[in-house]
Amino acid sequence: MKYVFGPVSSKRLGQSLGVDLLPPKSCTWNCVYCQLGKTRKFVTEREEFFPREEILEEIRQALVLNTSLDWITFVGSGETMLYKGIGWLIGEVKKLTATPVAVITNGSLLYLPDVRAELLQADAVLPSLNAGSEALHAAIDRPAAGLTFRQHVEGLAEFRREYTGKLWIEVMLLGGINDSDEALRDLAAVLKAINPDMVHIVLPTRPAPEQEIRLPSEDRIERAITILSEVTTVVHPVKGFMDLRNASDLLEAVSAIVTRHPVQQRELQKAIADCFPAESDKAASVMQEMLATGRFRLVEHDGEPYWMMNS
Ligand code: SF4
Repeated sequence: MKYVFGPVSSKRLGQSLGVDLLPPKSCTWNCVYCQLGKTRKFVTEREEFFPREEILEEIRQALVLNTSLDWITFVGSGETMLYKGIGWLIGEVKKLTATPVAVITNGSLLYLPDVRAELLQADAVLPSLNAGSEALHAAIDRPAAGLTFRQHVEGLAEFRREYTGKLWIEVMLLGGINDSDEALRDLAAVLKAINPDMVHIVLPTRPAPEQEIRLPSEDRIERAITILSEVTTVVHPVKGFMDLRNASDLLEAVSAIVTRHPVQQRELQKAIADCFPAESDKAASVMQEMLATGRFRLVEHDGEPYWMMNS
């Protein structure tokens, strides 16, 4: 499938069928922690990059194969809201299934009224907010020219006023970058003004191809939870798991996921073993096959091997 991938483990959403609406990598930001690598050319103009009917047809087929999903999640190779017509897709998906629809976005385009309008039917929207100051926003998210921190925060606040679904803000906590008390207090002040339903703290557990990013210490994670909990409900999500059991072509299903984010070797081993419970060495042979294709490579991050695509 070209647009639909998974179901994948989503830290925040359990078993989630992913829908990617973008050509890689299309983004308004160039985050230091991005798993997709450097944003070589910013994209800031919204477009219907692929025909919406074609995407909907793939979702329809995937829903027949996957009957026990927790969410259908629009997420992918860049900033999701760059796809013009996502609102139509959300509406059509909701006609097909009672499974709730989530949208993961960096939130940078929420200052635009038409972008906010396209999100109103989603059950949950998960925008990013990694900084409570212009300087830190510029250092972490490195937005395209013309996109400011103020615009970002005002967009989030305006969306909160208009949107009645779940607004779960995602904070990527980076060791030595935004985990100081000062940075967390600035962030708490901004979150208080926005008033989300919840904040999800996420960690850079996967390798970032552009530069080495450190995990925050346990102590700093606890401190972040304490400080942000003063203004909102904070969730420190646990890891989910990957499910490949409905894949008709295993290598293609793995490729569809690894293209979108690096996958921990242990997680992949378990997902393959679940597909072939009677073949104890199947995971090793599939991984050998992956290396032999030349499309995948293994990298190490924080002492753990991860699978990535060769670029
Ligand atoms: S917003 Fe997401 S896709 Fe864009 S650069 Fe940041 S992490 Fe990467």
